[in-house]
Amino acid sequence: MDTKILSGVDLSFEVYTKLRERIESLKNQSITPSLAVVLVGNNPASKVYVKNKIKRFKDLGLDSSTFTFPENVTEESLLKKIIDLNNDNAFHGILVQLPLPGHIDSEKILTIIDPKKDVDGFHPVNLGNLTAGSPIFIPCTPKGILRFFEHYKIELSGKHVVVVGRSNIVGRPISILTSLKGRYLNATTTICHSGSSDLFKFTQMADVIILALGKPHFLKSEHIKQGAIVIDVGINRIENKEGRGILVGDADIKSLEGKASAITPVPGGVGPMTIAMLVENTVEAAERLLNNES
Ligand code: NDP
Repeated sequence: MDTKILSGVDLSFEVYTKLRERIESLKNQSITPSLAVVLVGNNPASKVYVKNKIKRFKDLGLDSSTFTFPENVTEESLLKKIIDLNNDNAFHGILVQLPLPGHIDSEKILTIIDPKKDVDGFHPVNLGNLTAGSPIFIPCTPKGILRFFEHYKIELSGKHVVVVGRSNIVGRPISILTSLKGRYLNATTTICHSGSSDLFKFTQMADVIILALGKPHFLKSEHIKQGAIVIDVGINRIENKEGRGILVGDADIKSLEGKASAITPVPGGVGPMTIAMLVENTVEAAERLLNNES
């Protein structure tokens, strides 16, 4: 069996092509969607993620500003900054790059963001709406994953989806979304985590496996059934044989070739779609403000 590689790069360019029209329409009404990014500390991966996001905004003619804080910033200063950004009409979206240093209560920071500017979709109001089946802002990575299903016409109805990982950012929201009623949804979803015993028993039964645990090459050929689809969210930095740092996913893509019917690569799979959905959510935030929707 040939394993189809589901490119997130190609798919993200389709998203940008469609977004250009919406951006132009906003600009014709003197609105340029704008994102405020809050970056704390010196985490190299966070810096790269922010740089990539900002570059995409710039390429599309959108505005963004990055507010950087030292590692030892106080929680109080960060909260104050977010309240200022909530009240600043120059920004339609606010993104706090995670992870935050240990002395900062991330939940407190994310909860203070105005849900209308919460383009990452992590605010409890947005997660609550998602759970109730009427999402406003869907977190970017799960939203990007849904686009793979729509674009590649992967019908989940009647299928068994197994999600590995239960974070509020990826695993939990995608498990809820796939089980909602709707086109390309309607799956029977199982969510696994570090407390799951005999985890591979579930992946072996799955029609679709979504990996979001952050363990390099976790899933191998013997852990899936023939023809399963694998969506690999994991981004792990490891050293190759030559001692060079490379990025790999949670799936052992070489081992899965010929057994999986389709797989998203790392890099070039879910990652580019996460950025595309951030742009889309920011454009949506600007449109909502224009239309005065809550
Ligand atoms: P978290 O660390 O917040 O969550 C990881 C989840 O995986 C937890 O629920 C944890 O279980 C579970 N887990 C960890 N080890 C195991 C194991 N051995 N068996 C079963 N479950 C396990 O990570 P995130 O959700 O933030 O990210 C997951 C991965 O996705 C990371 O590699 C991250 O870099 C990547 N990522 C990629 C994005 C992209 O755009 N492509 C975007 C966001 C994240 P428990 O809850 O019990 O601790």
